Amino acid sequence: MEVLSQWQQLFAACPTRLVGLTVWLLLLFALLAPLERRWPLHRQAVMREDFADDLAYFFLGGIVPAYFVVAFASLAQWGYQHGPTAFYAWIASIPFALRVGTTLIIGELVYYWAHRWSHEVPWLWRFHAIHHSPTRIDWLVNTRAHPLDLAFSRSLIAVVLSLIGLAESSSNSFAAVIALVIIFNTGWGFFIHANLRLRLGLLEHLITTPAYHHWHHANDGSEFANKNYAALLPCIDRLFGTHYLPKNQYPQRYGIDNPCPHGLAGQLWRPLLPDRQSGERVRSH
Ligand SMILES: [Zn+2]
Ligand SMILES: [Zn+2]
Repeated sequence: MEVLSQWQQLFAACPTRLVGLTVWLLLLFALLAPLERRWPLHRQAVMREDFADDLAYFFLGGIVPAYFVVAFASLAQWGYQHGPTAFYAWIASIPFALRVGTTLIIGELVYYWAHRWSHEVPWLWRFHAIHHSPTRIDWLVNTRAHPLDLAFSRSLIAVVLSLIGLAESSSNSFAAVIALVIIFNTGWGFFIHANLRLRLGLLEHLITTPAYHHWHHANDGSEFANKNYAALLPCIDRLFGTHYLPKNQYPQRYGIDNPCPHGLAGQLWRPLLPDRQSGERVRSH
């Protein structure tokens, strides 16, 4: 019942959400398109192939995954209510800054593994392959993702944080800081996809960059494949042996070798079909 009422709220908020997403889209375009034009990594058109599909993905990704996150978070909430109260009391007593930092790092760790499994587990790769299908990368490619791919990683983060007791906002300021982190993380996702020839020196040890994430999309050979899964913190890739960021070198080719349907409808349906029809297979390079 709780989930149904939350879904109703999400549904009722759809028009407002659409307006908000449109504002975000215009802001991102106004910010990133001129940067790409001024310092392009590769010469390519702004209004390129599949631009309209990616706009549709932008709105789908901003609306659909929330229904799954709410459902799974609600299940996790049940676990939280029946979990070890002494442990949760200890979690709630952690000082504010440490609690925010812990939430950020655990959220990043869960995202890393959700993303890595999306490459390594064949039925997850069927969905995630869509994000890797573009042969040209720009800021808007961030949005090309199957809604169920996004639902998987976001729900997993929500569930883990709930079960640890970190999703329980002890104060409005904690909830506000976490909301700001989510907004920054989302914006950063667009930035690291941007077609930008930009290096950040020592900062590249601290935070992901366009060069960093472009290597994640590289299709230059097996030695460069399946690197740089982290969304924000490169140290997590270092920790698990998937870090790759050479100096003064950039990928030459992007995309995947296995077939991916052209067009939004095919891309949304194909991963849901049985193996033989889907034509998908795990990324093997
Ligand atoms: Zn990926
Ligand atoms: Zn990407």
